[in-house]
Amino acid sequence: MSTYDFEPNPDDYGPEPAHIANPSKFDKLASQMSDCPYCGKPSKLVGGNVIYPHRPDLAGKWFWHCSPCDAYVGCHPTTTGKKPLGRLANAELRAAKMKAHAAIDPYWREGRLSRHAVYANLAVLMNLQKREAHIGMFDVEQCRKAIQLGTNALLWD
Ligand SMILES: [Zn+2]
Repeated sequence: MSTYDFEPNPDDYGPEPAHIANPSKFDKLASQMSDCPYCGKPSKLVGGNVIYPHRPDLAGKWFWHCSPCDAYVGCHPTTTGKKPLGRLANAELRAAKMKAHAAIDPYWREGRLSRHAVYANLAVLMNLQKREAHIGMFDVEQCRKAIQLGTNALLWD
């Protein structure tokens, strides 16, 4: 495992174009976030100190958290802190999302394509709406598909 696997991905805390373009979607998601998708019990809004006790830099972030399932999702940083960035993710899904970021981020980090273009390509290849083509929204199976596309160099155009 690289150190990457242990770090919260900065992209999980940054604004996504889709979030800005469609904030009502996140209002809707926030209203649906009270129940954990794994156990069905209410999740709790907690500070970053609960999720990442060794990362004081994240103490000011907010997360929806289900302690028994070890499932959580960060909140959008530009709001009062209640809008989740995606679905509540357990350890398996978090690992899958990190691998998906590792497979996809180089496409736009290298600068040949814009981030928008990479996600637009991802949307087409995964048969998703553009607003759905966001790793924070993916389930494990969608992450696997995205990793496959990314590692096979299929996102260039
Ligand atoms: Zn749960």
